[in-house]
This record gives sequence, C-alpha cells and structure tokens, in this order.
Amino acid sequence: MSSIAQNLQRVQHQITAATEKSGRAPSSVQLLAVSKTFDASAVLEAVQAGQRAFGENYLQEALEKIAALPALAPQASLEWHFIGPIQSNKTRPIAEHFDWVHSVDRLKIAQRLSEQRPAELGPLNICLQVNISEEDSKSGLAPAELPQVAAQVALLPRLRLRGLMAIPAPSADEAQQRAAFAAVRRLQEQLQADGLMLDTLSMGMSADLDAAVAEGASIVRIGSAIFGARHAA
Ligand SMILES: *Cc1c(COP(=O)(O)O)cnc(C)c1O
Repeated sequence: MSSIAQNLQRVQHQITAATEKSGRAPSSVQLLAVSKTFDASAVLEAVQAGQRAFGENYLQEALEKIAALPALAPQASLEWHFIGPIQSNKTRPIAEHFDWVHSVDRLKIAQRLSEQRPAELGPLNICLQVNISEEDSKSGLAPAELPQVAAQVALLPRLRLRGLMAIPAPSADEAQQRAAFAAVRRLQEQLQADGLMLDTLSMGMSADLDAAVAEGASIVRIGSAIFGARHAA
C-alpha cells in the first residue's frame, strides 16, 4: 500500500474515532484531501485509494491538476473544492472548474461567481469564510457582518450557500481549539435561526481535526496528514 493510501486510512480511522467519541455518525464528516503543492500523481494515488474530494488553494496549479486527472483516472468522478484566497479577477475559472468554494469572504466575490457559473453546470456550492479569531492578518468575514452577507449570498441564483468555513488561530490546546470551533457552530446556528438552510461546517485541519469533529464539523480539510509536509509554495 502506498504511503498516501496508508495515511488516508489512518485519517479515516481518526475521523471515525472522533465521531464515535461525540456520538456522531462517521458518515456525517466528509474528508476533503488538501492536495495543494502536490502534483497530479499524488492526487492519483489518493484517487486509487478511494478518495474523491480534493481541496486546492492556488488557482493555476489547481487548474492543471483538474485538467490532468480525467486522463489518469477516467473512471473516477472527482469533486474539486477551492479553499484559498480569491482575487476578484480570478473568479471566472473558479466558477467554471470547481464544485465548491469554501473561501468566499465578500459579497462581490459571490456575485461574480454567480454571474460566471456556466448554465450547464449545477449551482456552485459555497461556504462563507469567517474570521473567527478576528485576526487582522486572516481573510474572512467578521462575525458581525456575517448575517447580512449570508442573507444576500443565499439569494444569488447560480450559487447554493451551504454553510461556513473557518481557520482559527493555531493553538496546541484542545480546549482553545474547541472554543473557536464552537463559536463557528454558534454563528451557523444563528444563521439557521434566521431561516437559512445550511448543512455544512468546513473546519478542522491536520492539527485540530479531533476538536473540529467534536464541535460539529461536516467537512474536515486535511493536507499534510495525507500527503506529507509541504515545501514553501
Ligand atoms: C493548507 C490548508 C489546509 C490543510 O492544512 P494541513 O494542516 O496540511 O492539514 C486546510 N485548509 C486550508 C484553507 C488550507 O489552506
């Protein structure tokens, strides 16, 4: 078995254990394999091990892999998730080539994605990124501006608003990790109480997966625990 296949199996076991510990069904958490900086052959290894959903941060690199994979794995129907910062002049290829975007952090980006989503494709699945630790350096909507932006994004015709994404400030302390993820979950609950139909909490990476699952993550975005350490991009 390749090391990527072994790593995937280990991460799946970790997700299962974390769900069982908090009384959740293992199938309630989807594993998004974050393949940024790794090439198409690494993605192929993961595909051969059964992985179907991949997360990418850098547009050009992602487009090359999205174009290469159908020839390498003709039988596999893959799902591509854009999770990186978005420049407004780069929204068209994102709207054309991805199934999900987790990193929408302003209304203008959502409007462009909706306008540019090709009619023959289904609605683009969207998570709004929230700056939960309110760090100046991080992208994401401030919690206070979230309700208004979410209400407007939910009305855009070619998008389907699914929920929230967050990258809390790194902490080695599981209680602190859980507090940040719980805050994201409460924001989601407020939006649901306002009438939005949301089913996705995209939170948890290699270092804080357990805490995220304990607080209700439905998609965990895991890179280095599957593909190994990244070199600077
Ligand atoms: C790189 C990245 C990940 C994966 O991080 P790891 O620590 O390697 O698991 C998850 N989410 C986002 C937004 C990322 O940029």
